[in-house]
Amino acid sequence: MSKPLVTIVIPVLNERGGLEELVSRLERSLEPARVDWTILFVDDGSTDGTFAYLGKFHEADKRISAIALSRNFGKEQAIAAGLAYAPGDAVIIMDADLQHPPELVPAFIQRWREGYEVVFGQRLDRDTDGWLRRLYSVLFYQLFARLSKVPLPDGATDFLLLGRKPVDAFRRLAEKNRFSRGLFSWVGFRSICVPFHYGHRSQGRSKWSFPKLLGLALDSFFAFSKAPLRLCLYAGLLSLSLGSILGGEALARHVLHHRAPSEAGMLFLMSSLLLGIQLLFMGILGEYVGRIFDEVRARPLFIVDRSVGLRPESGLAAQ
Ligand code: UDP
Ligand code: MG
Repeated sequence: MSKPLVTIVIPVLNERGGLEELVSRLERSLEPARVDWTILFVDDGSTDGTFAYLGKFHEADKRISAIALSRNFGKEQAIAAGLAYAPGDAVIIMDADLQHPPELVPAFIQRWREGYEVVFGQRLDRDTDGWLRRLYSVLFYQLFARLSKVPLPDGATDFLLLGRKPVDAFRRLAEKNRFSRGLFSWVGFRSICVPFHYGHRSQGRSKWSFPKLLGLALDSFFAFSKAPLRLCLYAGLLSLSLGSILGGEALARHVLHHRAPSEAGMLFLMSSLLLGIQLLFMGILGEYVGRIFDEVRARPLFIVDRSVGLRPESGLAAQ
């Protein structure tokens, strides 16, 4: 019986210094896993010569291939590109900076052999993150679970294995605002978590700044949940009832006690309050409208510039 083919997809942005160790550790851990394997790097617009370096890896081992996007599109898009061209019966996605330990790969493959189509690496600790980022993640997972109705295991990372079926399902998704982890959960299939300890970066610095992270969190909420819109409705109803009660009371006072309605200060307070609520929810509506705009434009998620070592059947001829 022939062995299954597993492809490891790795998005990279200026990671040249850490690649050597990554590849050798991956090769070592894949050896006993009884699978055929390929590694597909997606160079997401690196400026440190990463792509040329990847070409050398391909020279040394034809199982290693790479595609380069035409500029930096972002990690989510790089992952989509990798999945679009990854051959094999299963695909594993991992970071290039060794924070996702290659030694966990056999455990993923084992779970997949047991029949799980989606195997999430689940982060056990957050020691390597600063307190602000930790707080932010806790809040994020709690809120996402409450708002989105898509079960996303606490601490699920984008170090994961996908069987062929979820990969094909993922490739059919046309939406542009992406939060891959949510989507991997959304496509369904039997899934399980494999816990692991997050390592330190092998070199360089995290490419995630706080605004980028906040952007990703907003994308994931608005792409997965319409709860903010409902909130808008409720808040509107509430402020309307409040206004009617206050108005009714003022009217009653005027009729019964011949007292003048509330002072200008009160009016000012009320109107600024209501204006605030309106503006807030117009902003939320804008979020959705913006997303509709994204979908309608139907731009491709990524653009491939070059590739090395890809199989001809991938649809991308080697250049
Ligand atoms: N990455 C990418 N494009 C980007 C940002 C990051 O391909 O725009 C890659 C990066 O090279 C790494 C992975 O995504 O392999 C995770 O990035 P990073 O380590 O900066 O994120 P963190 O671990 O801090 O979440
Ligand atoms: Mg990292």
